[in-house]
Amino acid sequence: MSFSDIKSLTNAELRNFLAENGQKPYRAEQIRVWLYKNMAESFEGMNVPKELCELLEKTFRIKSLTQETRLESSDGTVKWLYKTADGLPVETVMIPTETRASVCVSTQSGCAMGCAFCRTGKMGLNRSLEAGEILEQIINVWRIQTVTNVIFMGMGEPLMNLESVHRACETLHDQKAFSMGKGRLTVSTSGVVPKIAELLERNTPCQLAVSLVAADNETRASLMPVNKSWALPELLEGIDNYIRKSDEWVTLEYILIKGKTCSPKAAADLIKIVKPRRCKVNAIVLNDCEDPNLQAPSQEEIDEFMRLVRSEAVQINIRNPRGRDIFAACGQLAMRL
Ligand code: SF4
Repeated sequence: MSFSDIKSLTNAELRNFLAENGQKPYRAEQIRVWLYKNMAESFEGMNVPKELCELLEKTFRIKSLTQETRLESSDGTVKWLYKTADGLPVETVMIPTETRASVCVSTQSGCAMGCAFCRTGKMGLNRSLEAGEILEQIINVWRIQTVTNVIFMGMGEPLMNLESVHRACETLHDQKAFSMGKGRLTVSTSGVVPKIAELLERNTPCQLAVSLVAADNETRASLMPVNKSWALPELLEGIDNYIRKSDEWVTLEYILIKGKTCSPKAAADLIKIVKPRRCKVNAIVLNDCEDPNLQAPSQEEIDEFMRLVRSEAVQINIRNPRGRDIFAACGQLAMRL
């Protein structure tokens, strides 16, 4: 496997590369300190021998993204639009609260999954990002402030780019790099069932979130084409396997959509799914979306839905939409260069 961004390499790969090129392998650890602790922006800025610096310069990129736009919401959420070296758009969102700064990263430029409620889905897929391009989104925020949580839920389906997501999680978790606990890293999938099993097999240091979106098979299939490949019963089986083997909780993302997922029947369907499982639900009210058939429910409908679900002691939180005014909320990432 060859990478253009040095941050995409594991420590072992970097050591091998150095050894193959007549350099001391231990320099790999030094280079990684420069990359992740000192957040060096150029090879020149690293305190390594000149010959090594030249070798790195001619082999790798240390910077892969160019900032095109920075937008700040009235609620403090910040969204960046970057351009990759081959000219593709990538968006990153930072969501601050009193105690946290969560970064929502993109794992692909665009997305092939085509979810009906998502603007990124309308773009189609440009390409998957390298691990270095994913990490750079986080490093760019880290230069400004400490990042407490990373959510792989920006542009793209993370599990369709599992190799890069795994590498990025490993580096974020690595004590010699960012030292982030696995509870602070969340990988979210639209429901690519075989890759959920692979995530577990690879022991990727992260938590799992699944975009359930709707709790009955027909409604889910109408909103998410992925449901045609892996229908709701298969997805639930995949989640059950994950919970059984990992002994972890899984977060289910649920979208409140008028006339589709916010009725008393939908509440009953959701309860049936969540109650017997180690799952908690994050409900999000549908954000502004291009499809006129998809609307947000009224406050009364939302309140009634939440009351019904909570009456069965199901753990459900409603997430306040953040960054709507700058199109940084869920399903809204689709800026063009
Ligand atoms: S919701 Fe996620 S998986 Fe679905 S189209 Fe949007 S970015 Fe892709």
